[in-house]
Amino acid sequence: PVFRTTEIQEAREKLPILAEEQTIMETISENPVVILAGETGSGKTTQVPQFLYEAGYAENGRMIGITEPRRVAAVSMAARVSEEMALGTNIVSYQIRFQGNVTDETKIKFMTDGILLKEIQKDFLLLKYSVVIIDEAHERSVYSDILLGLLSRIVHLRKKKDDPLKLIIMSATLRLEDFSENRKLFKEVPPVIKVESRQYPVTIHFNKRTPESYIEEAYKKICKIHRTLPDGGILVFLTGQQEVNHLCRRLRETFPVVKTTVKQSDKEEVESSLLRKTKKKNLKDISNQLIKEAVNLDNYSALPLAEMEGDDPHYNDDSDMESIHEDELDMGTTSFSSLHVLPLYSMLPPQKQRLVFENPPEGSRLCVVATNVAETSLTIPHIRYVIDTGKVKAKVYDKVTGISAFHVTWTSKASANQRAGRAGRIAPGHCYRLYSSALFNDEFPDFSEPDILRRPIDDLVLQMKSIGIDKVLNFPFPTPPDLEQIKGAERLLINLGALEEQRGRGTLKDRKKFEYAARITALGRVMAELPVAPRYAKMLALSEQHDLLPLAVCLVAALAVPEVLLETPLDGNRGSTKQWQAMRRTWAGKGNSLLLGDAMVLLRAIGAADNSPNIVAFCNEHGLRMKAIKEVQSLRSQLIREISLVLPNNPTLFNLKIDPPTDLQAKLLRQILLAGLIDRVAQKVPASEIKESGDKIKMKTAYKLQDMEDPVFLHPSSVLKYELPEFIIYQEVFEASKLFLRGISGIEPE
Ligand code: ADP
Ligand code: MG
Repeated sequence: PVFRTTEIQEAREKLPILAEEQTIMETISENPVVILAGETGSGKTTQVPQFLYEAGYAENGRMIGITEPRRVAAVSMAARVSEEMALGTNIVSYQIRFQGNVTDETKIKFMTDGILLKEIQKDFLLLKYSVVIIDEAHERSVYSDILLGLLSRIVHLRKKKDDPLKLIIMSATLRLEDFSENRKLFKEVPPVIKVESRQYPVTIHFNKRTPESYIEEAYKKICKIHRTLPDGGILVFLTGQQEVNHLCRRLRETFPVVKTTVKQSDKEEVESSLLRKTKKKNLKDISNQLIKEAVNLDNYSALPLAEMEGDDPHYNDDSDMESIHEDELDMGTTSFSSLHVLPLYSMLPPQKQRLVFENPPEGSRLCVVATNVAETSLTIPHIRYVIDTGKVKAKVYDKVTGISAFHVTWTSKASANQRAGRAGRIAPGHCYRLYSSALFNDEFPDFSEPDILRRPIDDLVLQMKSIGIDKVLNFPFPTPPDLEQIKGAERLLINLGALEEQRGRGTLKDRKKFEYAARITALGRVMAELPVAPRYAKMLALSEQHDLLPLAVCLVAALAVPEVLLETPLDGNRGSTKQWQAMRRTWAGKGNSLLLGDAMVLLRAIGAADNSPNIVAFCNEHGLRMKAIKEVQSLRSQLIREISLVLPNNPTLFNLKIDPPTDLQAKLLRQILLAGLIDRVAQKVPASEIKESGDKIKMKTAYKLQDMEDPVFLHPSSVLKYELPEFIIYQEVFEASKLFLRGISGIEPE
């Protein structure tokens, strides 16, 4: 039995899914696979695991497993469910790549989809589980997609063993046909339960014109809403962490936390600061603005917004909004509501993320500035106004050249509608789209592309082969990757020695049969065990032979965690980038160690952080991202644990304190890097060509890649920009203002 507090019980009873408990549980008990669709916030993630628990699915030593595509969601949902059920985190636990609190007693386990995939590698039938929920299936993350393909088979096998496993696919109401109508995936059409949610109407307001700067426009819109519209939280969608922090700072400057009542004497102060901010505007504007600052929001009569905005309800031109309020203003009331600004993005520490669920301080308005984690993974309460920039940042990857870049693009119609929906949870709401309706209709795709079509899949292919799926082409993907991607992945894995080609003998037809069916090698098996991408796994596999394991483990961990070294200060990093650069040059050393380049800097940075008495101060001073350093440390321990299973007798392995590499070690590390980055070699553009080019200074750092016409450039953050070796290997090409190489080490042609 579960004992819930009355407060929790009351909150639960408001959730639409609670009314459907019986239908849901009956359908699950009668069917091996069930699809559960419901709007974000209807209670799927927090409630369904509880229904299952109460129905006995966690008895007899079996667990209820729930996968999330985002780490944020796994952590915060586990905490929430544990709280709702008043069960400890030893019972309701989570596991993500770098941390977790799972125990032997765990009954409900939230995890990222990648974690479950790893478990399938070790225990194909998933015997620890009685039910697996794939949550947020509409997000179409690569691992969730693969899991669905695998689980469709596992469910079948468990049924044959007379030990059934239930599969529940949970999704916002988006494109369910990809799962339900896919005969390759599910021979029998799984039943779909739709949870109707009590969603209030949301009025959509398009901008007449699409502005140049969406951040600026978002800022203005927030100010306007806060100053003129009735109570209710604001949720803004931006594309990334830096934008979020920037806008939060700006909003906090504009709306510093002030006393709720403005006395006459304080008012002058407010006025003068406002005057400063608005000195470019004409006097009438300023006085209008001052008046609005003083509007008492409690006395404000709430007109439906669509009516306020003049003729055409679909447009929200700023001037329309202003004209409405003139006669509502009452200079006598001077109560002043403050804005409670909170950021939300996936890299934010959990304790700060949690703040968005709390009530804002008395008399203040909540304003959450978020990336698209707030689109479906986390439901933020109290929101009545959504500001949608229409933008999303995604890593795009060119299937032919392998170049990846972060691009800010328009999101899809489906996502935009999800975002709008966030405004209608407590009352009728409003969504301001900072783009024109023409743009929405013509430029926005209906749905976002599944992730599997947007990134290299060598890691997936290796994992699949290690599970025994040789013919990747035949796998029941919800959306299959295209042939180019599979070819590219197999080619790389063959180059790395993880796969071996099956030589087709005999007729052409026979040969065709063997294509894209390369088999895993013994090396490939070792590589697949390691929790890093195949390139890095190869590096580790080699370093055993050279007795370089402690250094290689440290280097690979540092390469596998993004943004260990910062380029610009984050909040709380006080050091100056000039000092950071100087330190990095010192770390890079001389001679053979300098040729190791950016890898050397990483190694020295981690080593120095290990030895520093105050790691937080050290990170701040040297521009290291604290959270990344912690992740590197846990990845190192994890790698060491995995490797020690394969090599139990390696005495050097458990050396966590590393010394800077000797010259010989630096040279060996370069060779190991080359083995993993075998297809990522570049050569300096010849001096003659530099002379001919228009911009000699720029061309100095130009390199040629194997299959690319145009040169690419060493990223200015690379320590090798002073050295410019003839041949280099690189971790990544990415596109910013031009094409850049990042993560550089030099190589000497033997
Ligand atoms: P769904 O999965 O259908 O989108 P959820 O189960 O995530 O819905 O959310 C159900 C409700 O639980 C929402 O109203 C949400 O705001 C609330 N909720 C989720 N996490 C927390 C938390 N940590 N604190 C308070 N409320 C929460
Ligand atoms: Mg959910």
